[in-house]
Amino acid sequence: MRVFKFGGASVRDAAGIKNVASIIQKYGDKNTLVVVSAVGKTTNALEEVVAAYFDASKGGKNTLEPVKKNHLEICAGLFNSDNPVYTHLEKVFSEIEQRFDATPSDNYNHIYDQIVSQGELLSSIILSAYLKEAGIDNNWLDVREIIKTDSTYREAVVDWVKTGELVATKVVPMVKGSIVVTQGFLGSTSDSQTTTLGREGSDYTAAIFANLLNAENQTIWKDVPGVMNGDPRIFSDAVFLEQISYNEAVEMTFYGATVIHPKTIKPLQNKNIPLHVRSFINPEGVGTIVGKEDQKSLPPIRIVKKNQALLTLTTKDFSFIQEDVLASIFRAFSKVNLKLNMMQQEAISFEAVVDNQEDKIARLMKFLQDNFQIEIQEDLSILTLRHYNDATIVQNSAGKEVLLVQKTSTTYQSLIR
Ligand code: ADP
Ligand code: ASP
Ligand code: MG
Repeated sequence: MRVFKFGGASVRDAAGIKNVASIIQKYGDKNTLVVVSAVGKTTNALEEVVAAYFDASKGGKNTLEPVKKNHLEICAGLFNSDNPVYTHLEKVFSEIEQRFDATPSDNYNHIYDQIVSQGELLSSIILSAYLKEAGIDNNWLDVREIIKTDSTYREAVVDWVKTGELVATKVVPMVKGSIVVTQGFLGSTSDSQTTTLGREGSDYTAAIFANLLNAENQTIWKDVPGVMNGDPRIFSDAVFLEQISYNEAVEMTFYGATVIHPKTIKPLQNKNIPLHVRSFINPEGVGTIVGKEDQKSLPPIRIVKKNQALLTLTTKDFSFIQEDVLASIFRAFSKVNLKLNMMQQEAISFEAVVDNQEDKIARLMKFLQDNFQIEIQEDLSILTLRHYNDATIVQNSAGKEVLLVQKTSTTYQSLIR
């Protein structure tokens, strides 16, 4: 059994969907579970619909029109006008519209998941129908019946035991000798409310399935030849890496290499399942293998994590930043679910670098403002260099203001402006 994942870029138009079908036919064949993300930038467009739900001045259900138009245009390039796919899509659209007419809810995160999740339903319905059209037999699966989570809307935590049971009883027989098409990014609570696993979470969905199906491998099809030693959109000289270890991949993705979602690695490493990162633009290419070992020698790897904020907490009563104070700081970060990307301790100050998520930072301040003076600096980036040397540091820091530096023998990190 194998698991394939196709992201939004691969299915952004009719030609993309035809290309994905040909990849599935050529490299997937039987015993393949296919996980698909929403088409193109649909998730962002649905976030606008959510914004309109909560703010009457923002266009109401009309905000759904561009989403409808885009999906119907894609379908026009794939199907005859009497294809049953249109009825399925209409159902999804009207489900979103009906929310605007129902009793309003003030639970932002819950409504967010109910609306934004529809993007993956639309893309998977289209892909499954097109595969049928192209003579590739497949079954469409509603992933919400399988991936069970808690009710942390927008960042749901997977219940591995329940999900494992459902994969064994429902998905294994479905995938045997067949192709199953399902959605990335989604799950559901025990009372069947839709949840999402965090933005860009479809790679993780694929890894959950790979782990629970004991898959031979997982392939994520991307718009790059594989993993490179830097994002080619930032580093024009980036080179392709043939093979990297789970350890290298987990470090890279943790520090912000967005080519693989950071949560993807653990479920694969735990079962020693290789991850292939291949190009949907050039499917013949070998792609990168993420597995037990690194290739013979790794070049310096560069990662930039943008939109960072530096929080400086200073004790109001001149107390030292010692263990009990640190514990209270960490508890506050944990309560608001704000990840510490870098930290540094001084006598009476603690510096924390975090993603600049305003709502979480505001809640954090409420917990800490009685005991700490809090200063915030925004518009920063973390530069991470793995397997660095002096030259790579000089080259990549040129022209930047450096606010904080940390080094180990393999990793150099600086906070830059
Ligand atoms: P998906 O379509 O699955 O959502 P993404 O767009 O999230 O895929 O990921 C692919 C993108 O990741 C590439 O277009 C590239 O710009 C970016 N990227 C960041 N770091 C790297 C890296 N080290 N190697 C290759 N691509 C990278
Ligand atoms: N469609 C979701 C997002 O854009 C999930 C994903 O693409 O992985 O965040
Ligand atoms: Mg993506």
